[in-house]
Order: sequence, then structure tokens, then C-alpha cells
Amino acid sequence: MFEAEKKELIEYGIKVFKSGLVHGTGGNLSMRVGENGDMYLITPSGIDYEQIVPDDIVLIDMNGKVIEGKRRPSIEHGMHREIYKKRKDVNAIIHTHSLYSTALSITRQPLPQIESSVVLMRGQIEVADYARHGSMELAMNVVNALGDRKAVLMANHGQLAADESLAKALKTCVSVEHCAQIYILARSVGQVYPISPEKCDELREYIKTSYGQK
Ligand SMILES: [Zn+2]
Repeated sequence: MFEAEKKELIEYGIKVFKSGLVHGTGGNLSMRVGENGDMYLITPSGIDYEQIVPDDIVLIDMNGKVIEGKRRPSIEHGMHREIYKKRKDVNAIIHTHSLYSTALSITRQPLPQIESSVVLMRGQIEVADYARHGSMELAMNVVNALGDRKAVLMANHGQLAADESLAKALKTCVSVEHCAQIYILARSVGQVYPISPEKCDELREYIKTSYGQK
């Protein structure tokens, strides 16, 4: 089932790996599938991104039951599922251990609205409280800290992007990493001034109506 979608998920896994957002078999990706959006495909646990084949992808329903696939799914399959259950607007999730986002997550400080990319993620990127990898506690911490935004940092662990498609989720992951790097650089040379909430609203409205091609 969902052979085209499995191939798309594998392609994006390779893109994430080649972009340097993960090392080795770290991180994981999933996409929502099914007529009612009540299942998701997720990458397997501990297999190199460039070695994954369609049969390695695991199909799971929203009760956590494996519908198809013989491999063990990513240990974070519960985290992906809880986000899909809470956020009907989310169709793809990418979780990475990228350098600057993880560094910032260790300070347990959010990424403020310092630049337009973060503003367009619907607000500052919060930090989910630490809990063991693969635990339901981590899943719930991530759901709570994500709220209705597009991304979240995970304390002492990494970052996660939740968006309408894999293409958009990858862009969000790259933007979070880029902005985390800018923020850390800015903090190293002086006081940081986030854009005010009013100016953020103004910028969101302006970009919605005026940016890009008609
Ligand atoms: Zn992880």
C-alpha cells in the first residue's frame, strides 16, 4: 500500500541526510496517508537513510497498530502519532538532531522571533521539556510545546518540524536550523532584540498578501 508515498518518504530522508541535518541513522520522518488521514508512514529504526527501501517503511494507524511492514518503526513513532492526532493540519513531520538547534535546546531557551522565517512559523519556537528518547512522556512534551506552530525544539535532543507536506517540513527544518545559528551568533556579539509581537503580526499579514508571484 502507498508505494508512491513510501518512495517520497525515502527521497526526503535522503535529502535530510544530505543536507547535514542528521548524522548516521539519527532523526526520523513520517507522512500522513489514507482516505481519512488516519494512518501514517514512518522511517524504520536504525537503518541508514541511503539504504532504506520501500519495504522498510512502516505503516501505522492512529491507535499505534502496525498495518504493514516487517521492520521496527522509528522509536519516536508515538511522538509522530500524537502530533497527527492533535494537529489535523499536519501531514508530514521531520525530526532531526541538527547542530545549532540542538545546541540551543541544551540551554533550554526558546528561539525568539528574530527574523521573518521564525515569524512565519506562527511564533517563537518553544523548547519541549526533556524526557527519554522514544517515551510517551517525550511525545506529550513535544505536542504541548509545539502548540499550533510549525516547529519545536526538544531539550538536549534536537528539533522537529510539522507541516502540510514533506517539502514544507524540510524547508521549516532548514529555516529553524539557520535561525538557531543566526541567534547563537548574534548572542555571542551582543544584546538580541526580537521583533515585537505587533510588528510580527504586521509582517505575517504583509507576506500573506504581497510576497511571491500571483
Ligand atoms: Zn531524536
